[in-house]
Amino acid sequence: MAVDAKAKALKAAGEDVCGFAAGEPDFDTPVHIKAAAIAALNEGKTKYAPTPGIPPLREALAQKYTETYGLPTQAAQVVVSPGGKFSCYLTILATCSAGDEVIVPAPYWVSYPEMVKLAGATPKLVLADDSTGFKLTPDMLEAAITPRSKLLILNSPSNPTGAVYTPAELAAITAVAVKHNLYIMSDEIYEHLLYDGVTHVSPASFSDEARERTIIVSGFAKTFSMTGWRLGTIVGPTKITKAVAELQSQMTSNATTFAQWGALAAYTQWDKTKAALDEMLTAFDRRRKQVHTGLNAIDGINCQLAQGAFYLFPNISSFGIDDLTFCDRLLDEQKVAAVPGSAFGAPGFLRISYATADETLQKGLDRLQAFCAGL
Ligand SMILES: *Cc1c(COP(=O)(O)O)cnc(C)c1O
Repeated sequence: MAVDAKAKALKAAGEDVCGFAAGEPDFDTPVHIKAAAIAALNEGKTKYAPTPGIPPLREALAQKYTETYGLPTQAAQVVVSPGGKFSCYLTILATCSAGDEVIVPAPYWVSYPEMVKLAGATPKLVLADDSTGFKLTPDMLEAAITPRSKLLILNSPSNPTGAVYTPAELAAITAVAVKHNLYIMSDEIYEHLLYDGVTHVSPASFSDEARERTIIVSGFAKTFSMTGWRLGTIVGPTKITKAVAELQSQMTSNATTFAQWGALAAYTQWDKTKAALDEMLTAFDRRRKQVHTGLNAIDGINCQLAQGAFYLFPNISSFGIDDLTFCDRLLDEQKVAAVPGSAFGAPGFLRISYATADETLQKGLDRLQAFCAGL
């Protein structure tokens, strides 16, 4: 967000900045979802709602998990929160306290370690670099587990790398977590942003034991272009969702009422949602390939092709300058914004977001090439 803010400030000052730093889709919220929220406002749905969410939205989400992912889910196992970020925080607070260790695979989403610390627990960072496709292996997980380990955080598709675990990889990791009685917080906020025919799988789907220990965090922000709406979800065992709802009740009461009525339309009018999603996916897939090709064409950059989200995570360690300096100079000298891998616990890499216009992408790639050629 700091890089994005600096890039926006430069832009506001009249500079022509190419932004690869955005953490949100560059599409508007689908019209039918906006219309449903506007109708809700006009109908006076402007009061407090039940803490865990409006009943029809919890029902719709329970149905989605039951039918789409084969996870038998009751509405009581669903909580709607003010954002996927807050869903993560509530889940960590509900499962961890002082003395507990939380295994956080790196590259990680920036907020996880800080949230763990806010809960009084200790993040145990485990780096999975490009040698394993940015994915934790069962051996790496085994080696990180201690008697204090309480929770494992997984995020597939991943921010910042776009990496997606295969079902077999995920099953193997889940088996280790279950064997050691860990909870799993599975952040599935990019569940619909998948390419190359890959389908989404949740760790909860592998066994009854896994389902008893997995808390699925997701939301509307990334897949339906609703970042500003602040709506997230939590799905898990009732023991956990009850605790989460009690925390939410003291912290924020409920997610914004009319926003929830708008979000409901995403499911009740799924055909329209699917059409909007497909349009976004087509654009993202085209840009993903363009940026992947463009990055690898630059001498010294090595970038894997990720299958999810809207990020690529190129290795820039061959240039012999650290990633923070690289990004700082890239912004100053070529007006290109990218986030240093260090922000995600992975020095020597960049996070490139392709959630930006096609013209900007090519211009940004050209400037990046010029910058690298001068190093
Ligand atoms: C964006 C993001 C979230 C949270 O999104 P909200 O805007 O709070 O709904 C959670 N996890 C990851 C990995 C994200 O990238």
